[in-house]
Amino acid sequence: MTSLLSDANLRLDEALKHVQLSEDAILRLRSPKASLSVSIPLRRDDGSLQIFQGYRVRYDDTRGPTKGGVRFHPNVSIDEVQSLSFWMTFKCAVLDLPYGGGKGGITVNPKELSRMELERLSRGYVDAIADFIGPDRDILAPDVYTNAMIMSWMMDQYSIIQRKFSPAVVTGKPIAVGGSQGRDTATAMGAFFTIQTLMPKFDREPSQTRVAIQGFGNAGATLAQLLFDAGYVVVAVSDSKGGIYAPQGLDIPSVRSHKNATRTMKAVYCEGSVCNLVDHKTITNAELLELDVDILVPAALENQITAENAPRIKAPLIFEVANGPIAAAADPILKDKGCYVFPDILVNAGGVTVSYFEWVQNRNGLYWSAEEVNQQLQQRMVRETEAVWKISQSRDLSPRTAAYVHALERLGETIEAKGTRDYYQAG
Ligand code: NAD
Repeated sequence: MTSLLSDANLRLDEALKHVQLSEDAILRLRSPKASLSVSIPLRRDDGSLQIFQGYRVRYDDTRGPTKGGVRFHPNVSIDEVQSLSFWMTFKCAVLDLPYGGGKGGITVNPKELSRMELERLSRGYVDAIADFIGPDRDILAPDVYTNAMIMSWMMDQYSIIQRKFSPAVVTGKPIAVGGSQGRDTATAMGAFFTIQTLMPKFDREPSQTRVAIQGFGNAGATLAQLLFDAGYVVVAVSDSKGGIYAPQGLDIPSVRSHKNATRTMKAVYCEGSVCNLVDHKTITNAELLELDVDILVPAALENQITAENAPRIKAPLIFEVANGPIAAAADPILKDKGCYVFPDILVNAGGVTVSYFEWVQNRNGLYWSAEEVNQQLQQRMVRETEAVWKISQSRDLSPRTAAYVHALERLGETIEAKGTRDYYQAG
């Protein structure tokens, strides 16, 4: 069992204490509905044949077709895929998307394959799982080391097998083959709407709010920009090589353009293409997490805050943009310090939400502008953030447990609407 799954199970057990759910519903949610394991033959460029292991899991489809990413990584195993699909089940339910949770992957180091080998492997994966997936059954998306190009190959292969154009079987596609506007900024935008919804509850004005962000990739850098534009004081950011800290606040557009141009992160202020260094300190990733700031955003990797460093965390508000950045063992330590942790299954769900919009657009054949996408995303993020906050306040639960309770109540309601022991025994 991966640590992600054991942590997710601990959090589920905690949430189950606070929700009225039939035994049948709990039993249903404890195991995946269907797990497929396949061997994918790949003809290498040198003519040899190699077999790769691939997986696809449909954890629960009570609320609709299953939905989840495909990961290409040497550590991919059936256990990992099952745990990630379990997590997706909850994430989709928190946002009230009409989906269950799914996940897939291939045990491979994609960096060791040529571009053509990668394409053949992606198409071979779809050949192997074609009967298990579909726009109304199970929908794929990008995950670790898979991208829009790979999604395009997978969609094309599925369409060839079905002998009809089937864009809705995969999301995260390039715009040219049915991708959605706003997908690339969706995760950061969703996190931003969550933060904006919650700040008034803590009587915080952006200009009085200092933020530190770990991870300056797609999600972290876009969120830094959105917060900067809204007047927040982003004092620290970092990437895998380390971080920069300027108590007076960083000029995020300058830091971003310098990073894009040089691949290095510097605390700079740029006028046109001329950048000057500003007063700052360089810090390690561990130091960034422990800064005295108002908001901490882990947006890089899992398991960054553990029982070891949790006692030294000073930020009173944490927004999990990465998946699983806080180990379950750190939860009670942070809670005792009075720290509010807003969980990944809410905060980073903007990505899967815009994937849902992509699926809706593919099925309707009518495409939305970036403004329409962001407006719909905002509506949903605000609504579900408010709902989680209300549960947390009215039942005195941490925001994390409240998010799990919110998801469980939705899942339970749907399972029960289809008939459980309570229904059949009622007379
Ligand atoms: P990315 O690859 O674009 O960026 C990751 C960033 O983390 C990079 O800046 C990298 O330098 C940095 N990083 C790597 N190792 C680090 C370390 N040891 N310490 C500090 N920083 C380190 O990835 P992303 O798409 O921005 O995703 C970031 C996190 O958000 C992941 O956990 C991902 O699962 C989660 N997430 C992303 C999306 C999405 O749509 N992009 C959706 C949901 C969740």
